[in-house]
Amino acid sequence: MTEPNSWQERYHSSLMNTFGTPKLLLARGEGAHVWDADGKEYVDLLAGIAVNSLGHGHPAIFEAVTTQLQTLGHVSNFFASEPQVNLAERLLALLRAPGRVFFSNSGTEANEAAFKVTRRTGRTHIVAAEGGFHGRTMGALALTSKAAYREPFEPLPGDVTFVPYGDTAALAAAVTDDTAAVLLEPIQGEAGVIVAPDGYLSAAREIATSHGALLWLDEVQTGIGRTGAWFAHQLPSGDGITPDIVTLAKGLGGGIPIGATIATGAAADLLQPGNHGTTFGGNPVACAAALAVLDTIVGEHLLDRVAALGKHLRDGLGEDPRVVSTRGEGLLVGLDLVSDSSAEVAAAALQAGFIVNNPTPRSLRLAPPLVLSDADADAFLAAWPGILDSAGVMA
Ligand SMILES: *Cc1c(COP(=O)(O)O)cnc(C)c1O
Repeated sequence: MTEPNSWQERYHSSLMNTFGTPKLLLARGEGAHVWDADGKEYVDLLAGIAVNSLGHGHPAIFEAVTTQLQTLGHVSNFFASEPQVNLAERLLALLRAPGRVFFSNSGTEANEAAFKVTRRTGRTHIVAAEGGFHGRTMGALALTSKAAYREPFEPLPGDVTFVPYGDTAALAAAVTDDTAAVLLEPIQGEAGVIVAPDGYLSAAREIATSHGALLWLDEVQTGIGRTGAWFAHQLPSGDGITPDIVTLAKGLGGGIPIGATIATGAAADLLQPGNHGTTFGGNPVACAAALAVLDTIVGEHLLDRVAALGKHLRDGLGEDPRVVSTRGEGLLVGLDLVSDSSAEVAAAALQAGFIVNNPTPRSLRLAPPLVLSDADADAFLAAWPGILDSAGVMA
């Protein structure tokens, strides 16, 4: 029950009912910690869904955003700005491939731009994966397999084939000489942190190339250090492949909205003047924030730390017999419980002061800030058996 004039009631009478009832009203954050309106403290192991890569209130982002806002806040794409050009160059250097970048404001927009790039090949067929998630706008939704998301909005832009994720033979059978692009997440985040089997990404690269199709990797969730590499496809399991298109958003701006569509090689020239646009995309404040994120990941040696801390979390969580499997790379952590009790476990964790996410009835996902401390990770591991007890999970 919600009391009259409670924040829940005000929320429900003023905001569209797209998200159900929010769990908490959060008031402030610092590092990996947030406080609710009643002053209760939580360790944030979700980071705004893999967004707050440097945690809350990181001084480098604060400094970059304030300085940029005091200097030049917005110019439109009739004009260029230094942070925009610097960021594009930095992303291409991290991708280690010549190419070009289009900036936008979110993951779904990064994918919309990429979708339009693929249409400029002269082909329309896209092969995407079951369980994949690419966003909620009409184009990105057309590429997202989940029926419950898609069906209320059909007809969607067409000519999409969904194949089981990780099945090389199914992919080879679906891609033809009419295929514009193969679209995959290196690790499926929303599906519950499903990791591609070894060799899958390089097989996808070969299959796409042999049909003249583009390989498009959606790294909106996995990119910018989340997995312990700049891009998840740069982990050893990616076999050194270069994709034709990479889309980014979530962690890139450290909490400031920004999306990026990177195209390499010939794909970089497919969009021509008049083909696409945005008013806000690439604005100097968002680009300055993203540059601060990149500088901090380098300066604080976060990639190595992410890899080690992720392993520590997976090992520790998996020690409990009520966890049947753990997966993921770096600080994108997934686990399966013995029973369909992820909602109860997420609620018990919240009660105990830890924010985690339950993407499916049986799985949990952690995507903490890349700056999570050992002490916070160990506090969660120490609380873990008790959280499973409170949620009533039986071995
Ligand atoms: C979150 C996500 C998106 C959509 O990003 P929004 O910023 O919510 O539009 C797209 N692709 C992947 C892989 C995601 O995780």
